[in-house]
Amino acid sequence: MGATMTPLPSPAAFLDEAAALLGPRGLTSDPERMDAWLTDWRGRYTGRALALASPASTAEVAALVKLCASHGVPIVPQGGNSGMAGGATPDETGTAIILSLRRMDTIRSLDAEAGQVVCEAGVILQHLHDAAEAAGTRFPLTLGGKGSATIGGLVSTNAGGTQVLRHGTMRAQVLGLEAVLADGSVFDALTPLKKDNRGFDLKQLLIGSEGTLGIVTAATLRLLPAPTGRVTAWTGLGSITAARSLLRRVERDMGEALEGFEVVPAHCLDAVLAHLPAARAPLDTAHPWNALIECVSASADSAALRERLEASLAAALEEGLLDDAVIAANERQADDFWTLRDSISAAERAIGPAMQHDISVPVEKMPEFILAASPAIEADFPGTRAVAFGHLGDGNVHFHVLAPPGAVRGQWEEAEGKAVSAQVYDLVTQWGGSISAEHGIGQMKVAELARLHDPVALALMHSVKRALDPLGLLNPGKLVMASPAACT
Ligand SMILES: Cc1cc2nc3c(=O)[nH]c(=O)nc-3n(C[C@H](O)[C@H](O)[C@H](O)COP(=O)(O)OP(=O)(O)OC[C@H]3O[C@@H](n4cnc5c(N)ncnc54)[C@H](O)[C@@H]3O)c2cc1C
Repeated sequence: MGATMTPLPSPAAFLDEAAALLGPRGLTSDPERMDAWLTDWRGRYTGRALALASPASTAEVAALVKLCASHGVPIVPQGGNSGMAGGATPDETGTAIILSLRRMDTIRSLDAEAGQVVCEAGVILQHLHDAAEAAGTRFPLTLGGKGSATIGGLVSTNAGGTQVLRHGTMRAQVLGLEAVLADGSVFDALTPLKKDNRGFDLKQLLIGSEGTLGIVTAATLRLLPAPTGRVTAWTGLGSITAARSLLRRVERDMGEALEGFEVVPAHCLDAVLAHLPAARAPLDTAHPWNALIECVSASADSAALRERLEASLAAALEEGLLDDAVIAANERQADDFWTLRDSISAAERAIGPAMQHDISVPVEKMPEFILAASPAIEADFPGTRAVAFGHLGDGNVHFHVLAPPGAVRGQWEEAEGKAVSAQVYDLVTQWGGSISAEHGIGQMKVAELARLHDPVALALMHSVKRALDPLGLLNPGKLVMASPAACT
């Protein structure tokens, strides 16, 4: 890779060469065809692009990246554009291309017996779920954006979701990786090796790098046997500390079967019930906190799982860890419980503006963090309301701060909202946590990461970025803040 930044050439020459390389289906600079891909999923960022490139193969991605390097054209990789941190949105200069992987949507192979599937980057998560199920297997990672999120995006953001408690994030699912590096060379590590001690684990370096170190073109992912049993319960609790005790109790009793443990405060449940008129509260009385518990097994059937969970919850009731509980009578009721959980963000959006923070602290500290941070924020920003919900079992909650009544959407976020976020991230850092548990840094948190992250870690990240992308062309302005050293 070269060490100096090539001056920007005439865009027309670049576009002609790119068009010759990719053909009419592979490149457009038509504003109408690009429009949908210039704004992020949350609608917070809109940029401009020189063109939208949609290569159909790894070879085309490699040739395109090489062309971009020779012309000094920045590249913004994009999958389903469902990311939450503005990582797939170009800046406003219009000098970058969007490199969409969506045309590369082939499942190259699926070996049910070996529990392995090789997916191109553009395979949509839901399609992978369907293919895995048809083969009598299961891909153990899911999230609300599964109808749009692609394998390349999931790998690049190290996505999490609702099964991390048992199965881990994307890092744990990737057995092998193929990626195009900044000079157009192809890093081929698709073959899964259980043991491999040839130095650095380079695929793990690329996972979670948000398109700043390379373009993921394919991944070998692990598959598990299809489940034989599932049981889902909704419980009502008096406090968030009781929720942590209940988590530990159910972990002990259900062992590996415990797959999901999501907490929902009363305020969030009320908001969802108001938002979804057909929805019903699972329990007859209201409780300050609720926990949604899911257990899945690939050996026991649903009846056996249910019996174990019933016994566990009965013991928890006796110990005073919970106040009430209901176990879903069938799959439909289980899905209804999940609908309540998955509708919190939409229900809150309907109420008014809010600042959303995807944060983690050590699991054991999370209840105390919530109990300390919520009143602190509400006291410093009168009229706001802090709510925390989500993946308690992972030490990761969505810590949302709702604007005071009457706040104007679009204005409040840019003014007081920014101060709110800064304070939330300060608190998280003081508690030894992370300002991004699963959504990534993108452009949304790049300044906050630079402000709050360990300087040694930041310096290492800059060194890696310079080594792998010396021209600074891969997703500039995302994750790693541009520094003068990046282009020298
Ligand atoms: C309703 C909803 C619920 C969600 N729930 C969760 C959740 O529970 N947990 C969670 O972790 N996330 C969640 N997300 C966020 C989102 O789905 C994930 O971040 C997902 O990984 C993004 O995939 P994508 O293909 O849409 O990527 P994009 O949004 O297109 O891109 C995301 C980032 O990855 C980079 N990128 C994309 N493809 C590639 C590639 N092939 N090579 C290199 N870089 C690439 C982009 O440049 C960008 O930085 C949710 C989203 C929605 C809409």
